[in-house]
Amino acid sequence: MAKLHIITVPDPLLKTKSVAVELVDDDIRKLLDDMLETMYGAPGVGLAGVQVGVPKRLLVIHTARDDESKSPIALINPEILECSEDMRLHEEGCLSIPEVYAEVERPASCRVSYVDRDGKPQEMFCEDMLSTVVQHEIDHLNGVLFIDHLSKLKRDMIIKKYLKAQKGETVD
Ligand SMILES: [Zn+2]
Repeated sequence: MAKLHIITVPDPLLKTKSVAVELVDDDIRKLLDDMLETMYGAPGVGLAGVQVGVPKRLLVIHTARDDESKSPIALINPEILECSEDMRLHEEGCLSIPEVYAEVERPASCRVSYVDRDGKPQEMFCEDMLSTVVQHEIDHLNGVLFIDHLSKLKRDMIIKKYLKAQKGETVD
């Protein structure tokens, strides 16, 4: 396995829509393994292909790593089938926008279809933290960042602060 470079805002690739994976082969499985290692090293709980510069519809997630009953999941061509009306608020961050956190409201649970690393179609019910993470990651495949869920005013403020911090200037 190899650690990959994670691209960050304002890289325009983060705003592009990723393309479907046509065939789940060894190259795809190697990419998923490398993405997992990259995610663990960051560390993070989810990572989409586009974040390592590969705009394909695939992602890895591992929430609650201290809970041994939960293993990492790789989702290829994931799609949200339905969402709950109940919402949940969570302070999100993103490996592509380091050091930035903001509360985002998303459906508290959702059902997702995807293809697994063996190329088999699967369905999964997600709730709580997993629901938030899976929606955050699927957003990446559509060129959407968590800050896009905030008001324009708040988003502009966050981006300005972020870009200043990247340049090493004092943030006020
Ligand atoms: Zn993210």
